[in-house]
Amino acid sequence: MNEILSTDLEKTHKLCPKCNSYKLRSGFHNHKAMSEGLASYCKDCSHDLSSAKYNESVKDPAFREQLKNRPKAKGTIESRP
Ligand SMILES: [Zn+2]
Repeated sequence: MNEILSTDLEKTHKLCPKCNSYKLRSGFHNHKAMSEGLASYCKDCSHDLSSAKYNESVKDPAFREQLKNRPKAKGTIESRP
């Protein structure tokens, strides 16, 4: 019974290996390079992945320091002889 159910499910759904659950195929981004024409991760997960990356950088104090101390137009006045 489970096999029939999963085959039926895969007509309309696709398994996302990230959240390990079946999502509607419309819940995946189109990806022409992929054999199925769909991205391997669902929209939620690919969104999570990209925003997590950004959040990690922003949370990192060293990264924030870098932004704060970014040199502005370095070498315009000071480097003059
Ligand atoms: Zn997912």
